[in-house]
Amino acid sequence: MLLTLTTTHRPATDLGHLLVKHPDRVQSFDLPAGTAHVFYPEADEARCTAALLVEVDPLKLGGGRGRRQSTAPEGFTLGQYVNDRPYAASSLLSSALTKVFRSALRGESRDRPELAATDLPLTVRVPVLRCRGGAELAVRVFAPLGWTVTATPVPLDETYPDWGDSRYVDLTLSGTLRLADALNHLYVLLPVLDDAKHYWVAPDEVDKLLRAGSGWLADHPERGLITRRYLAHRRALAGAALARLAELRLADEPPADDSVDPGTAGDAPAGDADPRRASLAVRRREAVLAALRDSGASRVLDLGCGGGALLTALAADRRFTEVVGVDVADRSLAMAARRLRLDRLPERQRDRIHLRQSALTYRDDRLRGYDAAVLMEVVEHLDPPRLPALEDAVFGHARPGTVVVTTPNVEYNVRYEGLGPGRFRHADHRFEWTRAEFAAWVTRVAAAHGYTATIGGVGDDDPEVGTPTQLAIFTRDDRTEETSR
Ligand code: SAH
Repeated sequence: MLLTLTTTHRPATDLGHLLVKHPDRVQSFDLPAGTAHVFYPEADEARCTAALLVEVDPLKLGGGRGRRQSTAPEGFTLGQYVNDRPYAASSLLSSALTKVFRSALRGESRDRPELAATDLPLTVRVPVLRCRGGAELAVRVFAPLGWTVTATPVPLDETYPDWGDSRYVDLTLSGTLRLADALNHLYVLLPVLDDAKHYWVAPDEVDKLLRAGSGWLADHPERGLITRRYLAHRRALAGAALARLAELRLADEPPADDSVDPGTAGDAPAGDADPRRASLAVRRREAVLAALRDSGASRVLDLGCGGGALLTALAADRRFTEVVGVDVADRSLAMAARRLRLDRLPERQRDRIHLRQSALTYRDDRLRGYDAAVLMEVVEHLDPPRLPALEDAVFGHARPGTVVVTTPNVEYNVRYEGLGPGRFRHADHRFEWTRAEFAAWVTRVAAAHGYTATIGGVGDDDPEVGTPTQLAIFTRDDRTEETSR
């Protein structure tokens, strides 16, 4: 099994720093089912290719985990010796990726941190990929992620073309992406195309999938197929994963349907979308919009706007005369610009809407003087030691008249099937608060900065664990006095 990764970024040999594998050496790693080798067929300033070759030991593979061993005398089954596993790229390649390129998959780099965060010209080739669903499916899963895909069916036998094509494709992907994104795409999608995972799928696979799929899977048009195949068609797990993806989805939620219960305990049906969970995102947005309308705000900041789900709703309501989306991530801002169709809006509309790149943990004068600010599902993305900096920048420095904050209620997590104990709803959450913790934070921040706050929730109120989403509305004290006068 072979995978090569080429860049033409200059100096191309920086690839070695990002992968933490020196271009001059061949390195080998032990895997549970064989050995992985990393080497560089070419490495100069202009072009550098890293190759990952996985040699599978069919005996290790067949005799490995539990069940199979006991089904045949002495663990012998013909399938252990006669199968295509050693030759085809599959989930083994993906386990090799995590073992060999762990920090690169996480987007970390000690020597080249900026480069790890930068889109690079990349070409990936997997000459023999078992692909259930054919070359066309390879295009459907990779193309929406920004790859140009060439997938050529491998003929069954070169000498007898009449025999037709084998189940394999020769896959080439090219695109300009962050290396970590490219590796995470491969990590998830190679076994998805193979559709025959070699290990028993454990419940923590849901977390692994959501972590690896962070930032691209929730909005992927084939997320249903990807999730079901990745989780080896286990309906309960796929249902749980899809429900969590629906929560994360920033786009295309089905219309709100308040006649159904978004928060009912753990019986998420398997299927592409769980409308009850998606409607929590819709209800949250409606609750935030209602709070903004009640406050009488016209100039509004959406802090940590992400892909712009709230911005589109704000833009559609003319009472908001100025709407500013703020995020630290280029990708979120690019997605928001696309979602808002900024390039196609008439000028008068476009002048109301702005996107700004800014880190909410630093004071930014451009954010002062607004009527209201929203922090929707943002605070839990910050490391707790960075929170005071955000409090200072938002409540101390920007000081909008109203601040609306939403965040998950961790107590509610027991109602989500498939979300193991101690797990958060999103791989990027640094914490999730109980109702008492949120209330304590709200009270402290309001008192420290001269605001008065009310606390509520969004979603159905469970008698034991409360609502899935917590919401607080802070009103600056000089404004409470104004309105009560
Ligand atoms: N408010 C959006 C997105 C929530 S995801 C929604 O509810 O749909 C959290 C967002 O906060 C991400 O887009 C992330 O890039 C942004 N974010 C996290 N830390 C940030 C920081 N320090 N400064 C600015 N944005 C930040």
